[in-house]
Amino acid sequence: MNKVAVIGSGNVGATTVYYIAERNLADIVMVDVVEGLPQSKGLDFLHAAPLRQYNVGIFGTNSYREIAGADVVVFTAGIARKPGMDRMDLLKINAKIAKTAASAIAQYAPNAVVISVSNPLDIIALVILRETAFHPQRVVGMAGVLDSTRFRYFIAEKLGVWPGDVKAMVLGGHGDTMVPLKRYASVGGLPLSELIDEMTVDALIERTRNGGAEIVRHLKTGSAYYAPAASVAKMVESVVKDEKRLIPAAAFLRGEYGYEGIFLGVPILLGKNGVEKVIELPLSDEEKRALDNSAHSVLEGVKTLDSLAL
Ligand code: NAD
Repeated sequence: MNKVAVIGSGNVGATTVYYIAERNLADIVMVDVVEGLPQSKGLDFLHAAPLRQYNVGIFGTNSYREIAGADVVVFTAGIARKPGMDRMDLLKINAKIAKTAASAIAQYAPNAVVISVSNPLDIIALVILRETAFHPQRVVGMAGVLDSTRFRYFIAEKLGVWPGDVKAMVLGGHGDTMVPLKRYASVGGLPLSELIDEMTVDALIERTRNGGAEIVRHLKTGSAYYAPAASVAKMVESVVKDEKRLIPAAAFLRGEYGYEGIFLGVPILLGKNGVEKVIELPLSDEEKRALDNSAHSVLEGVKTLDSLAL
């Protein structure tokens, strides 16, 4: 049985555990800094096993030692922005948490593939890569699968079709600077452009771009977690089963698409070694401009990170 460690047992972390268990993918260790939280949630999940028909180990702990030997580590720990805190304060705190976790990952799970989820996504992934000193292919960020599934859902809803039949990919940074590849989108093998007019697609893209914010507006405290966790679970499955799914994810680029030394959402093949391959697609001028804009904002984030004394 594979072993997956999920760091952070909050909304995204715990829901990810739930999806992993439901698909019997791996034994799971849940880690959190709050005493009793991962322990209680772990037990609660186990009590549901006879009803939900899973047979995996789920163990909650406050100690990083228990991640020993994990094949995959999912990083979802962090704090949300509190009143009076600016983005810089938040980055500093979350980067420190990521740094501590990353050194524990390097120590206890030196062969793991790390799926980084905490925000700011592309920057925290870089902190983990630097601190673990893992090969860059073994650290990957989750954002593109989420943006893509939102886009796919909105298309399916508009057309009244089976959501799984809609294929679409969103590249770039998470949120504002995402780059939806609408000309590659399809439904049941037919190009999307044959089924919906461009103005409608653009409206769906706008809703996708604001998908996270729309949920925050409703929730008021906290942010989305069911679709994010489903996105992480899909990535975990692709690694533990070595499926080599072609998905969009934040990969550390070493020249691909003309970028060097940053994490950016691009199409990858995800397998047991992590990012098995970055797929380089020909982009239109408009798509390349949008991706440049994304890369620019990631670079600004890296500058901010480098200016912090962590
Ligand atoms: P949450 O507040 O529900 O959970 C975070 C958990 O981290 C808490 O249980 C907290 O106790 C724990 N934690 C804090 N400090 C820790 C430490 N030092 N060690 C271990 N655990 C620690 O938040 P959430 O809704 O689960 O979101 C988690 C992160 O994922 C956030 O950064 C959020 O912005 C991000 N997120 C990213 C995406 C994406 O697309 N990449 C989507 C949704 C959420």
